[in-house]
Amino acid sequence: MKAVVYNGPKDVSVNTIDDPKIEKPTDVIIRVTTTNICGSDLHMYEGRTSFEKGRVFGHENLGEVIEVGAAVDRIKKGDRVCMPFNVGCGFCENCERGLTGFCLTTNPGTAGAAYGFAEMGPWQGGQAELMRVPYADFNCLKLPEDAKEKEDDYVMLSDIFPTGWHGVELSGFLPGESIAIYGAGPVGLMAAHSAQIRGASQIFVVDSHDDRLKLAEAMGAISIDMRKGDPAQQILDATGGLGTDRGVEAVGYQCCDRHGKERSNYTMNCLVKSTKATGGIGVVGVFIAEDPNAPDDLQKEGKIAFDFGTFWFKGQKIGTGQCNVKHYNRRLMNLIEHGRANPAQIISHRLSLDQAPDAYKHFDERDAGWTKVVLKPGT
Ligand code: NAD
Ligand code: ZN
Repeated sequence: MKAVVYNGPKDVSVNTIDDPKIEKPTDVIIRVTTTNICGSDLHMYEGRTSFEKGRVFGHENLGEVIEVGAAVDRIKKGDRVCMPFNVGCGFCENCERGLTGFCLTTNPGTAGAAYGFAEMGPWQGGQAELMRVPYADFNCLKLPEDAKEKEDDYVMLSDIFPTGWHGVELSGFLPGESIAIYGAGPVGLMAAHSAQIRGASQIFVVDSHDDRLKLAEAMGAISIDMRKGDPAQQILDATGGLGTDRGVEAVGYQCCDRHGKERSNYTMNCLVKSTKATGGIGVVGVFIAEDPNAPDDLQKEGKIAFDFGTFWFKGQKIGTGQCNVKHYNRRLMNLIEHGRANPAQIISHRLSLDQAPDAYKHFDERDAGWTKVVLKPGT
């Protein structure tokens, strides 16, 4: 089969590799019909991780079940399914509590597993014609009747829609409150979409890219262009000096070059500044460790230093971590099925697998108009 394979920093290619096989009776094999490129893939693409050469990318996957292991009960051949990016077992202490992003079986010794991801278990990604899904009865979300027509909406259930929702949840958000979202990439835009659906009174979205800020405005947000000056100050000025009730970090390690050495802690400091005293901050951006190219020693180890003094003095709260996708998925699927959510609105490109190397380059450069790429293997 064809698959998008990592060769080294900023070097991916579409190679022919062996088809995946049923390895355990609880596996299924999926013919992948839609698979997305994610901002998280860029941590590996840019060479910031221990991702091995030859590994297949892709943790945002949807497709049709073509082969079913002998112990799979619920999932049948022909089902259209979306896979949460977390690979869970369903029976460990954490999965039992709904914390599938921290499964103790699929990546023993470390927190959590994902398809096509460094340091998150051996699972191959789905940017390929076929993929193997372990513990398939648990890891496949069976889609409704309209799965084919709304495939581009449902595929967002694999990661960015629940992750955006999770960012809002981690901030402690309640209906009627105001919220500021840093980063108008796919995750930040999904946080804005979630805040809109959940009844935010005011939504601010910070970025420096016109196309992304326009999408945020189309979702009912007030755009904050950080090229025009300190974004936190702009939010304070727009809220009578008080700031917002809640804030979401949807940027992570990469940050605007303008802030040089300060880059990793920059958004955290902005959040502390633009969030009200006693307000809450949800951090879904990934501050990945082991970056050999980081500008200083702290960042090389994935550590950041932010203004904890002000954070403490303002009595703010913080929530962090991987999204437990499965925890949100059924409810978010219902929102899509009944027309209350349409996450596909952020898609900028629908491409074949062969076009992936070019798509990675454009998305990594954040070239104008390249907001969210979905790949369609088999086209
Ligand atoms: P992305 O890189 O496309 O988007 C990030 C956006 O932030 C860009 O538009 C960029 O211009 C903007 N930005 C850069 N510096 C900024 C700053 N200082 N202030 C405001 N905006 C700034 O990526 P994405 O796909 O939207 O993902 C965002 C982050 O979320 C990544 O770190 C990704 O790894 C992470 N993520 C986390 C989870 C989770 O489960 N917690 C899941 C998926 C993605
Ligand atoms: Zn993702």
